[in-house]
Amino acid sequence: MNQKGTEDTIAAISSGLTQAGIGIVRISGPEALEVADRIARVKGGVKAQAANTAAYGHILQNGRILDEAVILVMRGPKSYTGEDVVELQCHGGPYLMRRVLQAALAAGARLAEPGEFTKRAFLNGRLDLSQAEAVMDLIEAGGEAARVSALNQLGGALSRSVNALRDRILYETAFLEAAVDDPEHISTEGYAERLAVTVGEVRGQIAELLQAAENGRIIKSGIRTVILGSPNVGKSSILNLLLGSDRAIVTDIPGTTRDVLEETVRVGDLTLLLADTAGIRTAGDAVERIGIELAEKKAREADLILYIIDGTRALTDGELSQAKRWVTGRRAVLLVNKADLLDDEHAAEACRALRAETGLMPLSFSAKTGEGRKELYDNILTIFADVLPDGGDYAATANLRHCEELRRADESLRLVEEAIEEGMPEDLFTIDLMDAYTALSRIVGASVSDALVDEIFSRFCMGK
Ligand code: GDP
Repeated sequence: MNQKGTEDTIAAISSGLTQAGIGIVRISGPEALEVADRIARVKGGVKAQAANTAAYGHILQNGRILDEAVILVMRGPKSYTGEDVVELQCHGGPYLMRRVLQAALAAGARLAEPGEFTKRAFLNGRLDLSQAEAVMDLIEAGGEAARVSALNQLGGALSRSVNALRDRILYETAFLEAAVDDPEHISTEGYAERLAVTVGEVRGQIAELLQAAENGRIIKSGIRTVILGSPNVGKSSILNLLLGSDRAIVTDIPGTTRDVLEETVRVGDLTLLLADTAGIRTAGDAVERIGIELAEKKAREADLILYIIDGTRALTDGELSQAKRWVTGRRAVLLVNKADLLDDEHAAEACRALRAETGLMPLSFSAKTGEGRKELYDNILTIFADVLPDGGDYAATANLRHCEELRRADESLRLVEEAIEEGMPEDLFTIDLMDAYTALSRIVGASVSDALVDEIFSRFCMGK
């Protein structure tokens, strides 16, 4: 059996501690069969069971029957952890489960730490690090997008993309090292140009992975939306209208922490995370200034800006420049509000000016009657169409830790490009190439420090 420092046998309750039809105590390690044999009575004994079989029996402690059970025997290395594993499927009562676990501990197992089963699976090469993290994501998935994405990651989708990039970088490093060792036979003539092409392609693929992660965040947590505009144009009214009958049930949306200032609205398959900012206006006293700074920060970080204009009066130069400032280069919608009090002349003039200034076609809107809401939602779905995958096949998306490593790798590759442009000698490329390689390796856990491994697995809960 392939074991790295996992000599002891561990046990934990792997199902939840709630009343249920069945509850599972999982035992893993070199003595899993012995421990189970000491507490479970099955025909022929636990140790005689063939791999991947289920046997009916009883769990005993001090000669007294605790429960009936189905006993599953899996033998390493073909098991979840890569070790011998026995799962005791008992009746799922919290008290009973604790008693069965105690029996297993008294019979020689040690209580597993959070995430330790999956950690052993990783250490025994059954899963790589990003796949192990996917186990956690899958358990935590609160919606379809998160579920499919985690499942793809568990299947190795992210690892395959990252490993392909690692292979390309390693090939170049190996070539450079060989060329340094054996300059007579290996020529670096024209090599820098070829390397520049490879590095450009790898950086392009890293950018795609980062973009997919960003899209994943928007799908999972919602589109961070801020409503901006001068005082009295109708920002609060629009916020209320959008929240009104469409107020989403917050617990339906995975990955969002409920912030008093944020409400959610469902738009097709997407969710708007609406920030109720006080609006950005001229700073008066200190308290208002803090509010404005927060609002500005929210607006800068937002995924979507709704910029509101009052269609019943003439647009000021200040409004025009503010509108331009906030929507240029952003995902944004311009709304000309109060369409129910229609003033054709002002509204049409405002639309013309806004369009000329920003390149966006403003929508006519009324917070009072709800006119324009459907157009607004259609517009938002069009703007974010590229975020939703075709056919609902959500890619395995990098998590925050992965994204950090991807950015590190990208930065090192940028330095390689710089060195190539500056005509530096070839052997100098190796260091940055290796840095990029190491960063990518940390995603799949091919070369990670023990501390990082511990950190990742400690975030698991018990019994996983
Ligand atoms: P804010 O300062 O931008 O948040 O603006 P408010 O939402 O407080 O609205 C300012 C005033 O305009 C209020 O009296 C609203 O009732 C009114 N208002 C807002 N939107 C509309 C609209 O679409 N039609 C009409 N007739 N009045 C509106």
